[in-house]
Amino acid sequence: MGRLRWNQMLGEWVIITPDRADRPFQEKDHKCPFCVEQMPEWGDKGVITIENKYPSLNESVGMVPLDTDIVLEAPAYGACRVLLYTKDHNKQFEDLSAEQAELVLGEYLSVFEELENMRGIAYVFQFENRGRSIGTSLDHPHAQVYALPFVPPRIQREQIQLIRSQREEGECLICRMLKNELKSRMRIVRDSDNFVTLLPFAARLPYEVHIYPKTHASSLSELKEHLRELAMMIQDLVRRYKSVFDDVAYSMVFHTRPTIGSHDYWHFHIEFYPPWRDRSRLKYLASVENGAWTYTNESSPEEKARELRDAI
Ligand SMILES: [Zn+2]
Ligand SMILES: [Zn+2]
Ligand SMILES: [Zn+2]
Repeated sequence: MGRLRWNQMLGEWVIITPDRADRPFQEKDHKCPFCVEQMPEWGDKGVITIENKYPSLNESVGMVPLDTDIVLEAPAYGACRVLLYTKDHNKQFEDLSAEQAELVLGEYLSVFEELENMRGIAYVFQFENRGRSIGTSLDHPHAQVYALPFVPPRIQREQIQLIRSQREEGECLICRMLKNELKSRMRIVRDSDNFVTLLPFAARLPYEVHIYPKTHASSLSELKEHLRELAMMIQDLVRRYKSVFDDVAYSMVFHTRPTIGSHDYWHFHIEFYPPWRDRSRLKYLASVENGAWTYTNESSPEEKARELRDAI
Protein backbone atom coordinates (compact mmCIF):
# COMPACT_ATOMS: atom_id res chain seq x y z
CA MET A 1 0.00 0.00 0.00
CA GLY A 2 1.34 3.42 -0.93
CA ARG A 3 2.26 6.10 1.62
CA LEU A 4 2.47 9.85 1.42
CA ARG A 5 5.56 11.27 3.07
CA TRP A 6 6.13 14.96 3.71
CA ASN A 7 9.49 16.23 2.46
CA GLN A 8 10.27 18.90 5.03
CA MET A 9 13.17 20.46 3.14
CA LEU A 10 11.10 21.04 0.01
CA GLY A 11 7.69 21.41 1.60
CA GLU A 12 6.05 18.84 -0.64
CA TRP A 13 4.40 15.43 -0.54
CA VAL A 14 6.09 12.41 -2.06
CA ILE A 15 4.13 9.26 -2.98
CA ILE A 16 6.12 6.20 -1.85
CA THR A 17 4.97 2.98 -3.57
CA PRO A 18 7.56 0.18 -3.28
CA ASP A 19 5.10 -2.53 -4.45
CA ARG A 20 4.53 -0.82 -7.80
CA ALA A 21 8.10 -1.60 -8.88
CA ASP A 22 6.98 -5.05 -10.04
CA ARG A 23 4.21 -3.90 -12.37
CA PRO A 24 4.45 -5.54 -15.77
CA PHE A 25 5.86 -4.09 -18.95
CA GLN A 26 4.10 -5.45 -21.98
CA GLU A 27 6.34 -7.81 -23.91
CA LYS A 28 5.68 -8.89 -27.48
CA ASP A 29 4.32 -12.31 -26.54
CA HIS A 30 2.10 -11.05 -23.71
CA LYS A 31 -1.48 -10.10 -24.33
CA CYS A 32 -2.41 -6.46 -23.95
CA PRO A 33 -4.48 -6.10 -20.75
CA PHE A 34 -6.55 -3.28 -22.31
CA CYS A 35 -7.70 -5.12 -25.44
CA VAL A 36 -11.28 -6.42 -25.58
CA GLU A 37 -10.28 -10.11 -25.15
CA GLN A 38 -8.69 -9.35 -21.78
CA MET A 39 -11.16 -6.64 -20.74
CA PRO A 40 -14.86 -7.62 -20.77
CA GLU A 41 -15.71 -4.19 -19.26
CA TRP A 42 -15.61 -2.79 -22.81
CA GLY A 43 -19.02 -4.21 -23.79
CA ASP A 44 -20.30 -2.02 -26.60
CA LYS A 45 -18.77 1.17 -25.21
CA GLY A 46 -16.51 3.31 -27.36
CA VAL A 47 -14.37 4.58 -24.48
CA ILE A 48 -14.01 3.38 -20.88
CA THR A 49 -12.35 4.33 -17.62
CA ILE A 50 -11.10 1.62 -15.28
CA GLU A 51 -9.35 1.41 -11.93
CA ASN A 52 -5.57 1.30 -12.21
CA LYS A 53 -4.50 -2.23 -11.24
CA TYR A 54 -1.29 -0.87 -9.72
CA PRO A 55 -2.51 2.30 -8.05
CA SER A 56 -0.21 4.81 -6.36
CA LEU A 57 -3.23 6.16 -4.48
CA ASN A 58 -6.12 4.23 -3.03
CA GLU A 59 -9.59 5.18 -1.85
CA SER A 60 -9.91 2.23 0.53
CA VAL A 61 -7.08 3.35 2.84
CA GLY A 62 -9.28 6.12 4.19
CA MET A 63 -8.71 9.85 4.25
CA VAL A 64 -6.31 11.47 6.73
CA PRO A 65 -6.34 15.29 6.92
CA LEU A 66 -2.88 16.37 5.73
CA ASP A 67 -1.96 18.97 8.34
CA THR A 68 1.81 19.06 7.84
CA ASP A 69 2.43 20.49 11.33
CA ILE A 70 1.47 17.12 12.78
CA VAL A 71 1.37 14.62 9.91
CA LEU A 72 4.62 13.54 8.24
CA GLU A 73 3.36 10.28 6.82
CA ALA A 74 -0.12 9.14 5.81
CA PRO A 75 -1.74 6.38 3.79
CA ALA A 76 -1.78 7.37 0.11
CA TYR A 77 -5.49 8.22 -0.10
CA GLY A 78 -6.91 9.11 -3.51
CA ALA A 79 -7.75 7.39 -6.77
CA CYS A 80 -5.90 6.26 -9.87
CA ARG A 81 -7.87 5.59 -13.03
CA VAL A 82 -6.95 4.61 -16.54
CA LEU A 83 -8.89 6.11 -19.44
CA LEU A 84 -8.85 3.89 -22.54
CA TYR A 85 -9.26 5.91 -25.76
CA THR A 86 -10.50 3.13 -28.04
CA LYS A 87 -10.82 -0.63 -28.40
CA ASP A 88 -8.44 -0.47 -31.28
CA HIS A 89 -4.96 -1.27 -29.95
CA ASN A 90 -3.23 0.30 -32.92
CA LYS A 91 -5.00 3.65 -33.07
CA GLN A 92 -3.34 6.49 -31.21
CA PHE A 93 -5.24 9.69 -30.36
CA GLU A 94 -4.36 11.41 -33.64
CA ASP A 95 -5.70 8.41 -35.62
CA LEU A 96 -9.19 8.60 -34.07
CA SER A 97 -12.19 9.94 -36.00
CA ALA A 98 -13.47 13.38 -34.94
CA GLU A 99 -16.44 11.68 -33.18
CA GLN A 100 -14.22 9.25 -31.28
CA ALA A 101 -11.71 11.96 -30.29
CA GLU A 102 -14.58 14.10 -28.99
CA LEU A 103 -15.88 11.09 -27.05
CA VAL A 104 -12.45 10.73 -25.41
CA LEU A 105 -12.42 14.37 -24.27
CA GLY A 106 -15.98 13.92 -23.02
CA GLU A 107 -14.64 11.05 -20.91
CA TYR A 108 -11.82 13.28 -19.54
CA LEU A 109 -14.55 15.74 -18.57
CA SER A 110 -16.83 13.21 -16.87
CA VAL A 111 -13.98 11.58 -14.93
CA PHE A 112 -12.90 15.06 -13.77
CA GLU A 113 -16.44 15.91 -12.67
CA GLU A 114 -16.79 12.62 -10.83
CA LEU A 115 -13.47 12.79 -8.97
CA GLU A 116 -13.59 16.50 -8.10
CA ASN A 117 -16.53 15.63 -5.85
CA MET A 118 -14.74 12.78 -4.11
CA ARG A 119 -14.25 13.49 -0.41
CA GLY A 120 -10.87 15.00 0.50
CA ILE A 121 -9.65 15.38 -3.08
CA ALA A 122 -7.82 18.67 -3.64
CA TYR A 123 -6.67 18.12 -7.22
CA VAL A 124 -7.60 15.92 -10.19
CA PHE A 125 -4.52 15.45 -12.34
CA GLN A 126 -5.14 14.05 -15.84
CA PHE A 127 -2.26 13.09 -18.09
CA GLU A 128 -1.00 10.89 -20.90
CA ASN A 129 2.47 9.36 -21.06
CA ARG A 130 3.24 8.32 -24.60
CA GLY A 131 6.22 6.47 -26.03
CA ARG A 132 8.86 4.05 -24.81
CA SER A 133 11.40 6.90 -24.66
CA ILE A 134 9.66 8.24 -21.56
CA GLY A 135 9.07 4.81 -20.04
CA THR A 136 5.47 4.05 -21.02
CA SER A 137 4.83 0.40 -20.19
CA LEU A 138 1.75 -0.25 -22.36
CA ASP A 139 1.12 0.73 -25.99
CA HIS A 140 -2.69 0.61 -26.00
CA PRO A 141 -3.79 4.29 -26.29
CA HIS A 142 -4.68 5.47 -22.82
CA ALA A 143 -4.45 8.31 -20.34
CA GLN A 144 -4.32 8.33 -16.57
CA VAL A 145 -6.02 10.22 -13.78
CA TYR A 146 -4.68 10.79 -10.26
CA ALA A 147 -7.12 12.20 -7.71
CA LEU A 148 -4.78 13.77 -5.14
CA PRO A 149 -5.48 14.80 -1.53
CA PHE A 150 -3.19 17.85 -1.98
CA VAL A 151 -2.55 20.49 -4.66
CA PRO A 152 0.74 19.52 -6.37
CA PRO A 153 3.66 21.99 -6.25
CA ARG A 154 3.70 22.89 -9.94
CA ILE A 155 0.01 23.81 -9.78
CA GLN A 156 0.66 25.83 -6.60
CA ARG A 157 3.35 27.83 -8.44
CA GLU A 158 0.96 28.65 -11.27
CA GLN A 159 -1.76 29.50 -8.73
CA ILE A 160 0.50 32.08 -7.06
CA GLN A 161 1.21 33.80 -10.38
CA LEU A 162 -2.40 33.75 -11.56
CA ILE A 163 -3.78 35.02 -8.24
CA ARG A 164 -1.17 37.79 -8.10
CA SER A 165 -1.92 39.07 -11.61
CA GLN A 166 -5.65 38.99 -10.93
CA ARG A 167 -5.21 40.92 -7.69
CA GLU A 168 -2.53 43.42 -8.72
CA GLU A 169 -3.41 44.00 -12.36
CA GLY A 170 -7.07 43.07 -12.36
CA GLU A 171 -6.41 40.77 -15.31
CA CYS A 172 -5.66 37.10 -15.93
CA LEU A 173 -2.03 36.83 -17.00
CA ILE A 174 -2.82 34.03 -19.46
CA CYS A 175 -5.60 36.10 -21.13
CA ARG A 176 -3.12 38.98 -21.47
CA MET A 177 -0.33 36.71 -22.72
CA LEU A 178 -2.66 35.22 -25.37
CA LYS A 179 -3.61 38.69 -26.63
CA ASN A 180 0.07 39.53 -27.09
CA GLU A 181 1.00 36.19 -28.61
CA LEU A 182 -1.85 36.41 -31.11
CA LYS A 183 -0.61 39.84 -32.12
CA SER A 184 3.03 38.84 -32.63
CA ARG A 185 2.34 35.24 -33.79
CA MET A 186 6.05 34.41 -33.41
CA ARG A 187 5.47 31.48 -31.09
CA ILE A 188 2.07 30.36 -32.38
CA VAL A 189 1.90 26.94 -33.99
CA ARG A 190 -1.79 27.00 -34.83
CA ASP A 191 -4.97 28.73 -33.75
CA SER A 192 -8.62 27.86 -34.27
CA ASP A 193 -11.82 29.73 -33.36
CA ASN A 194 -11.54 28.95 -29.66
CA PHE A 195 -8.02 27.60 -29.00
CA VAL A 196 -4.36 28.53 -29.46
CA THR A 197 -1.38 26.16 -29.71
CA LEU A 198 1.92 27.87 -28.88
CA LEU A 199 5.41 27.57 -27.48
CA PRO A 200 5.72 29.49 -24.22
CA PHE A 201 7.94 32.61 -24.29
CA ALA A 202 10.27 30.99 -21.74
CA ALA A 203 9.86 27.33 -22.75
CA ARG A 204 11.81 25.00 -20.47
CA LEU A 205 12.08 22.28 -23.10
CA PRO A 206 12.87 22.60 -26.83
CA TYR A 207 9.46 21.24 -27.93
CA GLU A 208 7.31 22.26 -24.97
CA VAL A 209 3.92 23.30 -26.35
CA HIS A 210 0.76 24.54 -24.62
CA ILE A 211 -2.85 24.62 -25.82
CA TYR A 212 -5.05 27.37 -24.33
CA PRO A 213 -8.72 28.24 -24.73
CA LYS A 214 -8.92 31.81 -26.07
CA THR A 215 -11.59 32.76 -23.57
CA HIS A 216 -11.15 32.52 -19.82
CA ALA A 217 -12.27 29.06 -18.60
CA SER A 218 -11.04 27.29 -15.49
CA SER A 219 -11.79 23.66 -16.39
CA LEU A 220 -13.15 21.39 -19.12
CA SER A 221 -16.61 21.86 -17.54
CA GLU A 222 -16.71 25.35 -19.07
CA LEU A 223 -15.53 24.12 -22.46
CA LYS A 224 -18.24 21.51 -23.03
CA GLU A 225 -19.36 22.98 -26.37
CA HIS A 226 -15.83 23.00 -27.73
CA LEU A 227 -14.56 19.50 -26.95
CA ARG A 228 -14.47 18.42 -30.58
CA GLU A 229 -12.45 21.48 -31.54
CA LEU A 230 -10.05 20.92 -28.63
CA ALA A 231 -9.64 17.27 -29.67
CA MET A 232 -8.83 18.44 -33.20
CA MET A 233 -6.16 20.82 -31.85
CA ILE A 234 -4.52 18.00 -29.86
CA GLN A 235 -4.57 15.74 -32.93
CA ASP A 236 -3.07 18.54 -35.01
CA LEU A 237 -0.18 19.04 -32.58
CA VAL A 238 0.60 15.31 -32.29
CA ARG A 239 0.67 15.02 -36.09
CA ARG A 240 3.21 17.85 -36.17
CA TYR A 241 5.28 16.06 -33.51
CA LYS A 242 5.05 12.91 -35.63
CA SER A 243 6.60 14.65 -38.57
CA VAL A 244 9.50 16.23 -36.64
CA PHE A 245 10.45 13.25 -34.39
CA ASP A 246 11.57 9.76 -35.41
CA ASP A 247 9.62 8.37 -32.47
CA VAL A 248 6.59 10.11 -30.95
CA ALA A 249 6.98 10.54 -27.21
CA TYR A 250 5.58 13.12 -24.84
CA SER A 251 3.89 13.77 -21.56
CA MET A 252 0.58 15.58 -21.99
CA VAL A 253 -0.80 17.16 -18.81
CA PHE A 254 -4.07 18.96 -18.17
CA HIS A 255 -3.64 21.99 -15.93
CA THR A 256 -7.09 22.48 -14.54
CA ARG A 257 -8.28 24.37 -11.46
CA PRO A 258 -7.99 22.79 -8.00
CA THR A 259 -11.18 21.21 -6.71
CA ILE A 260 -11.75 22.63 -3.20
CA GLY A 261 -12.96 26.24 -3.00
CA SER A 262 -13.46 28.74 -5.80
CA HIS A 263 -10.81 29.20 -8.46
CA ASP A 264 -12.20 31.69 -10.98
CA TYR A 265 -8.71 33.12 -11.53
CA TRP A 266 -7.53 29.82 -13.08
CA HIS A 267 -7.13 29.57 -16.87
CA PHE A 268 -7.31 25.96 -18.07
CA HIS A 269 -4.61 24.72 -20.44
CA ILE A 270 -2.86 21.58 -21.67
CA GLU A 271 0.95 21.28 -21.62
CA PHE A 272 3.07 18.89 -23.71
CA TYR A 273 6.63 17.90 -22.79
CA PRO A 274 8.35 15.83 -25.48
CA PRO A 275 11.77 14.51 -24.35
CA TRP A 276 13.49 15.39 -27.65
CA ARG A 277 16.01 18.12 -28.43
CA ASP A 278 15.82 17.32 -32.15
CA ARG A 279 14.54 14.53 -34.39
CA SER A 280 16.23 11.71 -32.48
CA ARG A 281 18.41 13.09 -29.68
CA LEU A 282 17.03 13.21 -26.15
CA LYS A 283 17.20 16.29 -23.98
CA TYR A 284 18.51 15.02 -20.64
CA LEU A 285 17.47 16.65 -17.44
CA ALA A 286 20.72 16.80 -15.49
CA SER A 287 22.42 18.74 -12.68
CA VAL A 288 21.16 22.23 -13.39
CA GLU A 289 17.58 21.09 -13.97
CA ASN A 290 17.45 18.57 -11.11
CA GLY A 291 19.78 20.25 -8.65
CA ALA A 292 18.76 23.86 -9.13
CA TRP A 293 15.37 23.52 -10.86
CA THR A 294 16.71 25.89 -13.48
CA TYR A 295 16.17 24.81 -17.05
CA THR A 296 18.62 25.42 -19.86
CA ASN A 297 16.97 25.37 -23.26
CA GLU A 298 19.49 25.28 -26.10
CA SER A 299 16.99 26.16 -28.77
CA SER A 300 14.89 29.18 -29.59
CA PRO A 301 11.15 28.84 -28.96
CA GLU A 302 10.51 31.06 -32.01
CA GLU A 303 12.50 28.71 -34.27
CA LYS A 304 10.82 25.61 -32.86
CA ALA A 305 7.42 27.26 -33.34
CA ARG A 306 8.32 27.86 -36.99
CA GLU A 307 9.48 24.26 -37.39
CA LEU A 308 6.18 22.94 -35.98
CA ARG A 309 4.14 25.44 -37.98
CA ASP A 310 5.77 24.24 -41.22
CA ALA A 311 5.63 20.57 -40.23
CA ILE A 312 2.31 19.69 -41.90
ZN1 LIG B 1 -4.45 -3.40 -26.53
ZN1 LIG C 1 -7.60 33.95 -18.51
ZN1 LIG D 1 0.45 25.12 -16.63
